[in-house]
Amino acid sequence: MANMSTGSAKSLRRPLIAGNWKMNLGLKDSVDLVRQLVDGAPAGGSGPEIMVAPPFTALTVVAELLKGKSIKLGAQNMHPEASGAFTGEVSPSQLLDVGCSHVILGHSERRRMFGDTDAFIKKKLQAAVKLKLVPVLCIGETLEERESNRTFRVLETQIKGALEGFAPTDLAQLVVAYEPVWAIGTGKTATPDQAQQAHAFVRQQLKGLYGEGWAQSVRILYGGSVTPENVDELMSQPDVDGALVGGASLKPVGFLRIINFKAGTKASA
Ligand code: PEP
Repeated sequence: MANMSTGSAKSLRRPLIAGNWKMNLGLKDSVDLVRQLVDGAPAGGSGPEIMVAPPFTALTVVAELLKGKSIKLGAQNMHPEASGAFTGEVSPSQLLDVGCSHVILGHSERRRMFGDTDAFIKKKLQAAVKLKLVPVLCIGETLEERESNRTFRVLETQIKGALEGFAPTDLAQLVVAYEPVWAIGTGKTATPDQAQQAHAFVRQQLKGLYGEGWAQSVRILYGGSVTPENVDELMSQPDVDGALVGGASLKPVGFLRIINFKAGTKASA
């Protein structure tokens, strides 16, 4: 893949570190974890923006503990419709009701296991932005797609499939998460160079859709086996504006170290 730089205005974008708890933790463990995060997070909301996405069952209890705190609450998914006969689903307004400000959309596990298509993700995105929920749009290639040099094509299809037709003002708060499927939950992280190339490509696509100014304002997170050991180097890349963290977000000490990343440093051995 060609090396790419977008002349990124990174300093204008506040980093976002988000924890995706997936289908883990009951109420007691959710409370324990979030209490430790609240106690350990940088004081006064300084440092990166922080968001946690517990399972639906823990949203209310976590929301209580986050009242008046700087850590934001997100959901891992939602249905695009406002209400109705959609057994097992949760609507955007229900997420707002329980205190969510963010929602993860198009996670590869949803795409792969639950049939979420680009068209369906676009509907969810429309519903989220209508209610001013911040969408964290996940995109990323499989190993097979990477090995057959289709990474950029896949990213372009996923971005355009979800975003085309939106006005940039509708998407003011959009966050994109580049999550190579082969790196999720596998312990195989993209190298900082691989992450930067993909992020720069995503930003170029955003520029093509909406222009340079808007593209430079969108935060692009990296996700895929982020750990305290690799976060510093990833966050040192010009187009990496944060991390979407799965497994490592369940361990308070490690997640707090990720939150306190040190950009501009090499990974320690
Ligand atoms: C994720 O679920 O979005 C993720 C990146 O998981 P992990 O950090 O465990 O690879």
